[in-house]
Amino acid sequence: MAPSADLYRDALNRAEGHVLDWLDSVDSRHVGPITTVEQLTDAFGGPLNDEPRDPGAVVDELARLAEPGLMAMPSGKFFGWVIGGTLPAALGADWMVSGWDQNAAMRLATPATAAAEEAAGRWLLELLRLPAASAVGFATGGTTANFVGLAAGRQFVLEQAGWDLEAEGMSGAPKVTVLVGEERHTSVDMALRYLGLGRGQNVAADEQGRILPDALAEALAAVDGPVIVALQAGNLHSGAFDPMRECIELAHASGAWVHVDGAFGLWAAVSEEWQDATDGLELADSWATDAHKTLNVPYDCGVAIVSRPEVLERVFGARPAYLIQADDGPSDPFARVPEFSRRARGVPVWAALRQLGRRGAIELVERLAANARALAAGIAELPGAEVLNEVVFTQVSLAFGSEERTRAITQRLIADGAVWMSGSNWRGRDILRISVSNWSTDSGDVAAAIEAVAKAIQAVDSGGD
Ligand SMILES: *Cc1c(COP(=O)(O)O)cnc(C)c1O
Repeated sequence: MAPSADLYRDALNRAEGHVLDWLDSVDSRHVGPITTVEQLTDAFGGPLNDEPRDPGAVVDELARLAEPGLMAMPSGKFFGWVIGGTLPAALGADWMVSGWDQNAAMRLATPATAAAEEAAGRWLLELLRLPAASAVGFATGGTTANFVGLAAGRQFVLEQAGWDLEAEGMSGAPKVTVLVGEERHTSVDMALRYLGLGRGQNVAADEQGRILPDALAEALAAVDGPVIVALQAGNLHSGAFDPMRECIELAHASGAWVHVDGAFGLWAAVSEEWQDATDGLELADSWATDAHKTLNVPYDCGVAIVSRPEVLERVFGARPAYLIQADDGPSDPFARVPEFSRRARGVPVWAALRQLGRRGAIELVERLAANARALAAGIAELPGAEVLNEVVFTQVSLAFGSEERTRAITQRLIADGAVWMSGSNWRGRDILRISVSNWSTDSGDVAAAIEAVAKAIQAVDSGGD
């Protein structure tokens, strides 16, 4: 049976209709899900049917079953965790990536997706002001991008120590010390765990979560042997940036590899507004960022950037006989990330950047931060509200007096469902945390969010539930 359009048309048309209905609903629906996994498991479950079913009917059923369990993450009123929406061109491109169904591993086999990803990589390096000769790998997210950067670091510092990591592995290897800011993201710890590097050694941070250069200098002075330093551009709670130039220069003076987790904060480098905050960022050895956060492409898309492509290829490259590979030229897409077969997830990045252009990318990031400032200023006016961080980027951390009141207001706000913000705990305090990461958030959404917080405060203070 030839895979003609007729075999797909019905399923695709129905899917398009359901997705457009979904997108039309996100602005006005209750932001959180209105059911539980347990309830949905029953709906989705039951015995697997014996006989095949019509593809279009399967798509319809899926849409109907899923609807109550979806969270309005694409909404401009979604401020939870750090979650971007999807730019229209990126979503269209993502659909085409599925439709083309290319295994994007090899340059010679799938030149179209390889070329689009390479172009996207060059645009990213230019926009983010990172060294043009860096290798760019498209990973599944920030966690894997951190894994890739830290894996390159592990390779490099062990090579410097004369250890053949490929042949010998980690058993008996010289001890690699990893210095991490005490407020690094959990995914850095996870990546270190996958790499067999154990727990990083904490370096003290200031009240905004920025690593203290003096503490880093002290820690570096006490280490003997290979060292990796993991810095952070964009703290989850404050949005703050580690002092890049000073820390990187200190680390390099000790022969360390410097990795920067910039899952959302790396994007500050696109605008002059954060010239000081990102000063020296380009001196690091590897960087991790997400495209599914600030750039607003669909899941899942992280970006790993490594200044020394040859080191990265020694970690992830391979030359088995059955592949089609060139003898020279750029490495294959698979040789930069831990996956062989994968979707062409860099193609939506190409489309997002094409849609935005340089000016649009700058405006996007500046707008997210301006909305965060407006939210902080508006909520600060409300009774008993306190903004806990310097709002330097897209993150706002709030408290409302006692821990109990803060928790109650957070719960009330989420239950009301007009907006979504996450509860968290920062520096020993329960907080309400805002992340402005959706391209579509506008001043109306900001006003609605301030109003929603005001209502939650009122409800809690009047004892109502
Ligand atoms: C989101 C985030 C990560 C992890 O990224 P995933 O895409 O969720 O894997 C890492 N670091 C920071 C600072 C983040 O905000």
